[in-house]
Amino acid sequence: MIPAAKIRRTAAVVLTTGAVAAALGSGLADASGGDRTQEVRQAVQGGKARNVILLIGDGMGDSEITAARNYVKGAAGRLAMDTLPLTGAYTTYSVNKADPRQIDYVTDSAASGTGWATGHKTYNGAISVTPDGKPVPTVLELAKRAGLRTGDVSTAELGDATPAVLAAHVADRGCQGPADMAKCPAQDKVNGGPGSIAEQQVQTGADLYLGGGKARFAQTVKAGPFAGKTVIDQAKAAGYTVVTDEGGLNAAKPGGKLLGLFADGNMPQEWTGPAAKVGGTDPSRCTPNGSFGGPHLSTMASKAIGLLDAQTKHSRKGFFLQIEGASIDKRDHAADPCGQIGETAEFDKAVRASLDYARRHPDTLVVVTADHGHTSQIIPLEAQSPGQTATLITADGAPMKLNYATNTPGQSQEHTGTQVRIAAKGPQAASVLGVTDQTDLFRTLTRALAIR
Ligand SMILES: [Zn+2]
Repeated sequence: MIPAAKIRRTAAVVLTTGAVAAALGSGLADASGGDRTQEVRQAVQGGKARNVILLIGDGMGDSEITAARNYVKGAAGRLAMDTLPLTGAYTTYSVNKADPRQIDYVTDSAASGTGWATGHKTYNGAISVTPDGKPVPTVLELAKRAGLRTGDVSTAELGDATPAVLAAHVADRGCQGPADMAKCPAQDKVNGGPGSIAEQQVQTGADLYLGGGKARFAQTVKAGPFAGKTVIDQAKAAGYTVVTDEGGLNAAKPGGKLLGLFADGNMPQEWTGPAAKVGGTDPSRCTPNGSFGGPHLSTMASKAIGLLDAQTKHSRKGFFLQIEGASIDKRDHAADPCGQIGETAEFDKAVRASLDYARRHPDTLVVVTADHGHTSQIIPLEAQSPGQTATLITADGAPMKLNYATNTPGQSQEHTGTQVRIAAKGPQAASVLGVTDQTDLFRTLTRALAIR
């Protein structure tokens, strides 16, 4: 253990530097406690947005943001996502499938994504269908219909819930590929349905999809005009260029459609470190994941923004782009603090790239939010949690103890039912102020883009 006196001294020195950096570098996030009335007045803009960039940190509750800030910037530092000028909170609950009047206080990513994608409350596991199974139009589908360019980026499999809710409608989130349709008989192509999530994503035809999930797209289509071919073949026939590595992504030119499948399943995590365990760990730092194979989320985000910008340059219409940092959630489930913080730090780089674009294109609405809360909590060093804990040395040089105790140690840790942060910049950003609901975000996005 590091002696407490030494920790305090080190922390005090770095805190001072951190506070100066925050004050100089954060733009609108004024850490000095000054009068911000004028800044906020300037940040409130009505009217229409030409573009929307929606950034989702999966499972990124306030606790996950704070842990990442402490580790990466120090307690007095600020992340890029902290600098958005207008911030509120939104509620995330889902509803019971059999009786939608019954509230389910802890949502999953499928029901929560359906909330902002369609404006409808639904049950856990539903992909943009109502509790009675009806498909409802999504913000991406409406944007495409209105002539905007569209993109969907994630570090998860592209068929995972958050990327899926924009471009597919199935009864169960597990129905990712043609061989995964057991829980979605009504959508199965064999029964005359629209097909799996992967098939529907191709049919919906967003201008770009970038993420993992190659194995699902490599499955064989069971019925219809593409029977016997893979979903990748179907995508190529629909005009997609299919790339599978960072070189292919870098080489992609604006014009055609792009399908990037960079891993068989979910994309690899950025950082590794000690797993949380009962009784705790020695204080330690995180290390980069030696087996990481790019592209990083921020690389995909920058490329997506660049392609969509080039494709809309000579048009009156802009674009809608969703970017998800998926594995904040997945590493939180696994009680892996370095994994979780590394994903949050990389997600924050994607936020920075989006804000840089919005600075040059002020008619862009940027929204940064999460789909639900998650497990990790920052607890006192002396607390004896019955759950799994780990101690990390942060950018302050101080120890931070993270606790994972929403399920039996060793089991997958659980989502929580807390409200989460929603922050925005640009036209209609004021709609996120106060306490709203996840389904209100659908109306904010569609109003900003004037689509319905
Ligand atoms: Zn989860």
